Amino acid sequence: MYTNTDNDLSRFDFSQLWDVLVIGAGNAGLCAAITAAEAGCSVLVIEVASRDMRGGNTRHTRNLRAMHDAPTDVLTDAYSFEEYYDDLIRVTRGITNETLASLTLEKSAELTSWLGARGVRFQPALSGTLNLGRTNAFFLGGGRALLNSLCRHAEGLGVGFLYEAEVTTLRMEDGYCDGVTLADGRELQAKKVITTAGGFEANLDWLAEGWGEAARNFLVRGTPHNTGTVLRSLLDHGARPVGALDQCHAVAIDARAPKFDGGIASRIDGVPFGIVLNRDAERFYDEGEDFWPKRYAIWGRLVAAQPDQIAYAILDSVGVDRFMPSVFTPIREDSIEGLAAKLELDPAATRAAVDAFNAACPPGPIDQSVLDGCGTSGLSPEKTNWAAPIAKPPFYGFPLRPGITFTYMGVEVNESAQILMQDGRPSANLFAAGEIMAGNVLGQGYLAGIGMTIGAVFGRIAGAEAARQLNRG
Ligand SMILES: Cc1cc2nc3c(=O)[nH]c(=O)nc-3n(C[C@H](O)[C@H](O)[C@H](O)COP(=O)(O)OP(=O)(O)OC[C@H]3O[C@@H](n4cnc5c(N)ncnc54)[C@H](O)[C@@H]3O)c2cc1C
Repeated sequence: MYTNTDNDLSRFDFSQLWDVLVIGAGNAGLCAAITAAEAGCSVLVIEVASRDMRGGNTRHTRNLRAMHDAPTDVLTDAYSFEEYYDDLIRVTRGITNETLASLTLEKSAELTSWLGARGVRFQPALSGTLNLGRTNAFFLGGGRALLNSLCRHAEGLGVGFLYEAEVTTLRMEDGYCDGVTLADGRELQAKKVITTAGGFEANLDWLAEGWGEAARNFLVRGTPHNTGTVLRSLLDHGARPVGALDQCHAVAIDARAPKFDGGIASRIDGVPFGIVLNRDAERFYDEGEDFWPKRYAIWGRLVAAQPDQIAYAILDSVGVDRFMPSVFTPIREDSIEGLAAKLELDPAATRAAVDAFNAACPPGPIDQSVLDGCGTSGLSPEKTNWAAPIAKPPFYGFPLRPGITFTYMGVEVNESAQILMQDGRPSANLFAAGEIMAGNVLGQGYLAGIGMTIGAVFGRIAGAEAARQLNRG
């Protein structure tokens, strides 16, 4: 076993021929590495980040979505294959590989026990506003704890880890990969290569190819390391792409969040209880269209479509108490004009937008526990639920930017997680799992928790198939 914790590569034997190289130490990579190692393969995981920062976007996660026919120790009631499938078809609008989608859902049923047997702990089913206790199993300690458990388990199996090592090129010919080249020019050899290096969400130049210059103003919610270097090398060597360049998961987050790695804490949940204005102090979408957990994922795209990719949620002192406080203190002023000036909005235009909204609100209280139908009348766009005047000072503002979570364009795979080449034939020894192939299942839209499910399911399949081809296990 080799674990490069101190970045001292002098002890590392670069001439070793590994059974399996895994590129990326996130959820998908660790599930693949563990599965291959349990089958008796020698496995090396190559990770660009340091040991402290390993695990890419997986570090930020909280749960995975799993089907189950009866209550389990961590999930309530039942979540049938049919219901899960319907949910997936609804959010993707049918843009999914039905075979791979079905496989993902079926195999999701095994995940909590498989991960549990490898040290991952889950919380008892949650209740509360998210209402996910039936469909999603929450990791005790979050994604970081899941990662640490899986890494410890992998190390116990003899899996090697090479940290601070960026794979820049896959050495490929005619769909066969005999190894990889690192950024420092060194090379590694392997019989099988499993690519689990994430999407390209941290590569603003690549995002700009799909989104135009608007992409420069996106904030990246997760790791700065998922730049798509491995994906680019695969595509350059003839792997078949899947998914559209601009399809991704993106939410509206506080514009004051860091450019990278802000995680879940920068999300703003107050949109339904106020109004959202763009740079020109104009409303542009129904803030009360549905409960926030069902709508937050569309607001990344909505803000991305506004001038300068910036927007501002405006609330009064009643509205601001209706949701979980954000990690960022709201910007506060006693008058709408004063707040507008602080947000660098035109004060008169902001006042006019708030006055028009207030005049269109129905009388009487709102009820945030239901879709209360208390909508405005005569506005464009209308606010269809929870329309209460923004009237009681002080007033509060949150600046919003698109926060990209992960991209969907990746490589096409088959049911064995083998990467397909341009001619449709599977590569002889290359596999993919996780974000780098999520677009096979997610053509568009998102179901909370399915990112981790796709990674774990295809990671396990890739590890098992690599071992099977080597006659192990
Ligand atoms: C804030 C946030 C919250 C989320 N919450 C959830 C959630 O609760 N549930 C859910 O299902 N999904 C969630 N997601 C999505 C989820 O993180 C991903 O679907 C999942 O982690 C992907 O796993 P992965 O192994 O494919 O990628 P990652 O976990 O990102 O791992 C990829 C790894 O590859 C490494 N790497 C990249 N390039 C190279 C290279 N060239 N050479 C070597 N190594 C490289 C990276 O450093 C990284 O460690 C969330 C994402 C974010 C950003």
